[in-house]
Amino acid sequence: MMNKQPGTSGLIFNEPQLWDKSREGRCAVSLPKMDVDRSPLGPELTGDAPDLPQLSELDVVRHFTRLSQWNFGVDSGMYPLGSCTMKYNPKTNEVQAARQGFAGAHPLAGEEFSQGALRLMYDLEQYLAEITGFPAVTVQPAAGAHGELTGMLIIHAYHAKQGRQRSKIIIPDTAHGTNPASASLCGYESINIKSGPKGILDPAIVAEVMDEDTAGIMITNPNTLGLFEENIKEVCEIVHAKGGLVYGDGANMNAIMGIVKPGDLGIDVLHLNLHKTFSTPHGGGGPGSGPVAVRKDLIPFLPVPRVEKELDTYKFVTDCPDSIGRMHTFYGHFGVMVKAYAYILSMGGEGLKQASQYAVLNANYIKESLKDTLNLPYDRPCMHECVFNDANQQEYHITTMDMAKRLLDYGFHPPTVYFPLVVDGAFMVEPTETESKEDIDQFIDAVKAIAAEARQDPESMHKAPVKTKVTRLDEVGAARKPCLRG
Ligand SMILES: *Cc1c(COP(=O)(O)O)cnc(C)c1O
Repeated sequence: MMNKQPGTSGLIFNEPQLWDKSREGRCAVSLPKMDVDRSPLGPELTGDAPDLPQLSELDVVRHFTRLSQWNFGVDSGMYPLGSCTMKYNPKTNEVQAARQGFAGAHPLAGEEFSQGALRLMYDLEQYLAEITGFPAVTVQPAAGAHGELTGMLIIHAYHAKQGRQRSKIIIPDTAHGTNPASASLCGYESINIKSGPKGILDPAIVAEVMDEDTAGIMITNPNTLGLFEENIKEVCEIVHAKGGLVYGDGANMNAIMGIVKPGDLGIDVLHLNLHKTFSTPHGGGGPGSGPVAVRKDLIPFLPVPRVEKELDTYKFVTDCPDSIGRMHTFYGHFGVMVKAYAYILSMGGEGLKQASQYAVLNANYIKESLKDTLNLPYDRPCMHECVFNDANQQEYHITTMDMAKRLLDYGFHPPTVYFPLVVDGAFMVEPTETESKEDIDQFIDAVKAIAAEARQDPESMHKAPVKTKVTRLDEVGAARKPCLRG
């Protein structure tokens, strides 16, 4: 049998700081001999030369290549991080975003010199409107949580316009953690409700708390258990009947593109994460984009400037008296929009639908393959991710954290752990549509091998990871006495 897991073989180079490698006179460039007299620098430039390391070209190349190999990314292996869609993104989208016309576009260049960029933003809003089933979209917000804030400000402005502000927002326990934060930034009090026994919303529980002082509800769908909120239409009716609005957290759109349009379900405001579903690598705090889609009567509240088309000309419109105003300097993260635009065009409608179908198939394959190994609290068909926990390993005193750490030795990035909070010791896996069956099988085998180790040699597992450059860290110590100097 071949070596089934990618694993780590220990070929990880140590690498000192550049100053330690520096040798007097070593240099990475060859310049011709000086044929003019030395002349002194101006008075403001006197003093000691800066202490820069002196290195050859090869020293520099090896240094940065070695550092890059200490890192883990989706280009090196599977990254099954639930709730985040860490999928592989085709490199062509990066190439398109780096094209001179896009990368060199300047936000102050003016509309007449930016028609291509405006058209791209306009068309992207149209495509996203089509995918989500809403009449209008803004691409201005810079991240998912920023989209939530935008959406909640729109809901706030809507109620103000109705003549009566409301003070509360209903948030289920399966919502993403950013939801209550966004509601609270708008001054709303979060009313937390529990999901039903099937891991989805129970309309009766919503009806119990929904009243005329409640501005609406924030629903993550599919929710953070990876389950589709099957009662969504009924919940929307309950909230609407009391004059509230339904906010949809659509960051998990990766599971339902081309299959369900949130706009058809009764949702009023929805955000997407372009940096999850529509290409653009994410993580590391890099630029993102969280477009917001709204139903027809909420369009006047969208942020300005809006991109509009008149005959064949695109222009920014700022004259929108009910708008919540600007949410970002200039127009948002344009580079992310280019990648999403390229992704949507290259995939096409059928391709996007297929991506969602594979994402769901892959997650259900993992769920079925591992449900005898790890405990599965909600044993139902899932969407793009599935949530296990460590209940089966408790008798060996092995926790989700131990297994996550041990996965590193097998060459996998650990999944999301201890989230969502509704599942104790959660171990949440999202394989995404881009992993092959072979890679997914290797992941499944690794988890099975780890579960066997948990039974046979739990003591060793408490030391994992053992093959990585840095082994098990004292996390409490790291938090209490951080060493910030490397
Ligand atoms: C990632 C995520 C968010 C937040 O998006 P950011 O871009 O990280 O701000 C919100 N809701 C859900 C369901 C998410 O998965």
